[in-house]
Amino acid sequence: MRANGQLNRKVKVVREPKSLMDMVIPCQVMFGHYEGYDMKKFDDYEIVSYEGNWYNNKHYKVRCKVCGHEKVVGLSNLKKQDNHHSKFNCGYDFYKGIVGKVFGDYKCIEIHLDSVRGYLAELECQKCGHKIKTHASKVENRKHNAFCCGSDYYNSEIGKIYGDYEVIGVSGTTRNGVAVKCRCVKCGTESIRVLRPLATGKFKHGTQCLKAIPKSEYKNAIVRRFKNIQNRCNNPKCAEYKYYGGRGIKCNYKDVVDFYYDVIDKLIEHSKIYGLKNSTFDRINANGNYEKGNIRIATRLVQSTNTRRRVFFIITNGKETILSDNGAYCCRYLGLNNTSEIGNVVKGRAKTAAGWWLVRIVPKEEVPNIKDVTTNLVISL
Ligand SMILES: [Zn+2]
Ligand SMILES: [Zn+2]
Ligand SMILES: [Zn+2]
Repeated sequence: MRANGQLNRKVKVVREPKSLMDMVIPCQVMFGHYEGYDMKKFDDYEIVSYEGNWYNNKHYKVRCKVCGHEKVVGLSNLKKQDNHHSKFNCGYDFYKGIVGKVFGDYKCIEIHLDSVRGYLAELECQKCGHKIKTHASKVENRKHNAFCCGSDYYNSEIGKIYGDYEVIGVSGTTRNGVAVKCRCVKCGTESIRVLRPLATGKFKHGTQCLKAIPKSEYKNAIVRRFKNIQNRCNNPKCAEYKYYGGRGIKCNYKDVVDFYYDVIDKLIEHSKIYGLKNSTFDRINANGNYEKGNIRIATRLVQSTNTRRRVFFIITNGKETILSDNGAYCCRYLGLNNTSEIGNVVKGRAKTAAGWWLVRIVPKEEVPNIKDVTTNLVISL
């Protein structure tokens, strides 16, 4: 730029030569000076060639011996100014040496000339590939961390496990910091959480998982009924405790979310047919605990035939006579699809079910002495 400017001025000066001598003398001077300064060094710069005498100032092409930067400078400037290899004298060539250099976790991959900010170095994180541009004169060591690498840093979090949660994706930034998508390794519940508290590892499978499950009438029903179950089993003040906890029946689900995943599919399926209100949790073995494998979904009627207050009954089809205390169990034994059919007969709501009718209701005390039945389906006494 500067050379061109002086070139223009030179045109002005020589526009109207006064005589032929004015043209000739500079040529003599030119060669004289070129000889004199040949290979002469000015700090880190050395003269390559004479370019011309403009504005009464001899101009030379000079080259930085450190970086190879070339430029055309007037002799007076060469003598006056500092000619060391520097960002002012060498421009882009001064910075090109940092391309490929490593700065902490970052590596310089390119130098750009920005019309506003000057020379910018493009750095790339060697751990996550995050790229940043910084002024080429201010390149410093940078670490692969959230501050330098931004969202790219968090990509390296994917697959890490904190507490019971595995990070499966980066979600974005929130008011409280970067949020990640995570999945509970114990139950598979997916949720979005702020990374910083998650990374402390304090999030465990349980309440947090339940919170992450979308609200639904099923979820509400399960949570509410689970509280009742716990209450019946653990709280002596509960009116029903004597029939549950008092009899040694325990709730072996550690957390409501375990119970949730154990029953949700069955509950939805059952509710589609019978309605949610008529779909209750029933222990298959009425003396067993609330635990995986002993829970089924039953209509209210079936459950009532399976309570502690058992009704012992005898049914018959004329050939076989069954003593039982469990309508649903009978139905399954007889291969009936609707497990409430025998219950209906026992309760007097129907006279027969699939050819079976009620002989009589038997008092509990009498049960051990009954001999005249062909099948004993009494589950327990
Ligand atoms: Zn240089
Ligand atoms: Zn990084
Ligand atoms: Zn969980």
